[in-house]
Amino acid sequence: EAAISVIGAGLAGSEAALAAARLGVRVRLFEMRPVKMTPAHHTGQFAELVCSTSLGGEGEMQSKGLLQAELRSVGGAIVGAADESRVPAGNALAVDRDEFSARVTQRVREHPLIEVVSGEVEAIPEGITVVATGPLTSDALAADLARVTGSERLSFYDAAAPVIAFESIDLNVAWRAGRYDQSADYINCPFSKEEYLRFFAALEHARTHTPHDWEKLEFFEGCMPIEEIARRGVDTPRFGPMSPKGLDDPRTGRWPYAVAQLRQEDREGRMWSLVGFQTGLKWGDQKAVVALIPGLENAEIVRYGVMHRNTYLNAPEVLSATLQLRADPTKLVAGVLAGTEGYLESAATGWLAGTNAARLALGLAPLAPPAESMLGGLVRYLASANPKGFQPMNVNWALVPELPLPEGKRKWGKREKRPVMFRRGLNAFMDWAGGEAGLSVTPPPVPEHEADEV
Ligand code: FAD
Repeated sequence: EAAISVIGAGLAGSEAALAAARLGVRVRLFEMRPVKMTPAHHTGQFAELVCSTSLGGEGEMQSKGLLQAELRSVGGAIVGAADESRVPAGNALAVDRDEFSARVTQRVREHPLIEVVSGEVEAIPEGITVVATGPLTSDALAADLARVTGSERLSFYDAAAPVIAFESIDLNVAWRAGRYDQSADYINCPFSKEEYLRFFAALEHARTHTPHDWEKLEFFEGCMPIEEIARRGVDTPRFGPMSPKGLDDPRTGRWPYAVAQLRQEDREGRMWSLVGFQTGLKWGDQKAVVALIPGLENAEIVRYGVMHRNTYLNAPEVLSATLQLRADPTKLVAGVLAGTEGYLESAATGWLAGTNAARLALGLAPLAPPAESMLGGLVRYLASANPKGFQPMNVNWALVPELPLPEGKRKWGKREKRPVMFRRGLNAFMDWAGGEAGLSVTPPPVPEHEADEV
């Protein structure tokens, strides 16, 4: 009898188990919660949403919207449960947290082909297995995965710096320049000695979010949080990320005492992140500390710095686009562990890994969706990205091929192009799913077409 194992009943693992069971394959699903908890989960429910309750923007302008539609067309369980527990949230697919997880849990537990096994898995089992243990994979299993894949280390402290709205930066104080003769790609905020000491004192006393049991984790090299740098001494930040070297302040013609630099985040230059300021400070304290940076007194923080542990494989080194481990194709990986980021991406890779594991168990070849589809684009990226400095990936339009320009047209407008890419992707996905993959496909409701800009 065809059977597989799935480890982890999160976003990816729940979807994987249900996708495999739908193909008539027996599943043993292992989940350690509530026997052993992670630092971010609070319940024993499956597919718990650890932070926000949004599964991303909807509609044909959105890359997540395309991924949602693809999953709906093949009866994806996560997007199905989300549709059933949705709450109003503008153009986003947001859910009632408890109802959503309760629905997923119920579907999994009630499925006659799925057996749930409670407890931590410490080593990857024999046989066809989907590993979907997420960003907070337990240490023992992470070590075993590192052994199987030949990777050195899978767990990092991921730290992000606050991002500031450009229009809220005071350019009468801050100025654009690069160090020495570098191009002027940075915005520099100059500190006098007094200003720096005031800022440092606030930083020293600010409170962090980081739970204690995460502290023994190693910081990813080059990702040391600013509060950790400050803990090493009053001058450490200004000899590190806040160095004024090579930055002549146009108002004085001299190097300031210290400098905070901002780097452009988006192509249009509307968002700028503070360089070297990755932080786990509580949001209120973070806002107060940032406001002590000259030029950022009225800064609007569009994304706060956050810190969390993240466990993931260097996907391009170890995975193929079918989500099989190259070193052992009977083992498949999904979710954050496979190098994706986000609830929806986790569910989508879970669906593919579960489907492919079932195909293997049934003696069929594993598949990857077409490149024009969002899921196809994502898994191809995972398998082929630059492995150097690889970071987990959210879906976005750059993952799928560009649209050719129609004859006589010089430029595509975003609002014209996206709906075309959406339909191209969804059609390619449904053709593949109903054809080569032999699945039953239901065209999802096509979202409203937003009016073109005139
Ligand atoms: P999970 O959903 O975490 O599922 C993994 C499951 O495996 C868990 O149930 C865990 O208990 C279990 N497990 C782990 N080790 C073992 C073991 N050895 N044996 C058995 N079971 C095990 N994404 C968003 O889209 N929006 C957000 O707001 C967001 N916030 C996040 C906040 C934090 C703090 C973190 C860490 C991540 C966040 N993410 C967010 C990223 C990511 O999308 C989610 O973590 C998502 O839940 C990942 O899905 P997953 O299936 O890969 O892992």
